Amino acid sequence: MILPQIAISGKRGPDDPLQLENNVNATDVLIIGAGAAGMMCAIEAGKRGRGVVLLEHAKKPGEKIRISGGGRCNFTNSNCTAENFISANPHFVKSALAQYSSADFLALVERHNIKWHEKTLGQLFCDNRSSDIINMLTSEMEQAGVQLHLNVKINSISKSDDGFTVDTQSGTYNCKSLVVACGGKSIPKMGASAFGYSIGEQFGINIIEARPALVPFTFDSRWLENSRPLSGIAFECEVKAGKKVFREAALFTHRGLSGPAMLQISSYWREGEILEVKFQDRRQLKSQLIDAIKKSGKKEIHTWLATIYPLALAKFLCKQANVSGRLGDMSNLAIDELTHILHCWKIKPAGTEGYRTAEVTLGGIDTNELNSKTMETRKIPGLYFIGEVVDVTGWLGGYNFQWAWSSGWAAGQAL
Ligand SMILES: Cc1cc2nc3c(=O)[nH]c(=O)nc-3n(C[C@H](O)[C@H](O)[C@H](O)COP(=O)(O)OP(=O)(O)OC[C@H]3O[C@@H](n4cnc5c(N)ncnc54)[C@H](O)[C@@H]3O)c2cc1C
Repeated sequence: MILPQIAISGKRGPDDPLQLENNVNATDVLIIGAGAAGMMCAIEAGKRGRGVVLLEHAKKPGEKIRISGGGRCNFTNSNCTAENFISANPHFVKSALAQYSSADFLALVERHNIKWHEKTLGQLFCDNRSSDIINMLTSEMEQAGVQLHLNVKINSISKSDDGFTVDTQSGTYNCKSLVVACGGKSIPKMGASAFGYSIGEQFGINIIEARPALVPFTFDSRWLENSRPLSGIAFECEVKAGKKVFREAALFTHRGLSGPAMLQISSYWREGEILEVKFQDRRQLKSQLIDAIKKSGKKEIHTWLATIYPLALAKFLCKQANVSGRLGDMSNLAIDELTHILHCWKIKPAGTEGYRTAEVTLGGIDTNELNSKTMETRKIPGLYFIGEVVDVTGWLGGYNFQWAWSSGWAAGQAL
């Protein structure tokens, strides 16, 4: 069924051209979740002449896009490869990323004259604000004849002979293809829910256990007390959990540790694991220190270290190394202790801030259940999962949006 082209609407009304008798609506494609993936899928399916209805339980589409990238949306990464994603099947992302790459999304951004810039490590941001991306997507949806229904609460979903029936508080929808684009559990106050996983469970789809990722670490009360004067101090470091290492900036917070390096490693960290933080290379620091001992032996150790790090951090590191006094009085053991702490400071976080502040959710719909080219489930023809609800999680840096665009685009070509 091809739907008439109508403007994107908010709440459905009695004049809605889709509405049939008994408040039942029929459409080719029904997508649940008007986030990045759902909107991209809707645009592509609409452009191919499919009748598309996009259901969203929030008042506005794309709320996570709005808050992303500090309000400037890090919409993709120009160096995006399969290596930048975590999934039980590391090869799964390859097909969708090849079908719709970061260059393809950038071309769309440029067609809409959105000004952008590259920050570090290939991260592409809007010059102005994230709403440029939301406006681009809603205008593309309008052109593709997509019907966006906001404020819709879904009661139940069932399989019918020729598709699916979705019962909502504002009417019933029959569709041939059902796309689940509900995202993960991160930031519940922005509308995030576990609904996508429960749809998977209802249809017997395996779910990889979900957990918060790209999330700040918390300290226990003893560590919090020790690190209280450091809150707000940023520093460059290399952080390691297991075999995984990231070199980026980090930040002490009043709860523990955050900043890009810590968010990145949080996606690999497991409860109870120790983090190893390298402030500086040991050999290099040792030669700097020996030089300083020769030239400025009367200087306090922490005063010298404060020429490299903020004073509070310098004092903290000296305390951690159990060294004090003047440079000239340092024993070989004290030199070893200090250089060791700066080379490998070990900290055991109490946990993370959880879904309340996590940028993404690890785990989700098991990729073994999906066709990597189309995102269609193998067990239930016509049922698709795209975006963050799938067990694919990107690093910090625009990769998560690229997965939403690529998986949404791939499904949009197939249904
Ligand atoms: C603070 C923050 C900053 C971020 N910054 C970046 C960034 O700069 N770059 C980047 O690449 N990634 C970033 N991310 C991650 C990125 O936002 C997500 O990976 C991406 O939005 C996932 O897209 P999605 O469409 O799969 O899910 P979402 O964007 O979460 O969309 C899912 C939609 O489904 C709706 N929904 C949920 N349950 C229901 C239901 N029961 N009925 C109807 N609708 C429902 C939700 O309201 C939502 O609109 C950030 C995340 C956060 C939290």
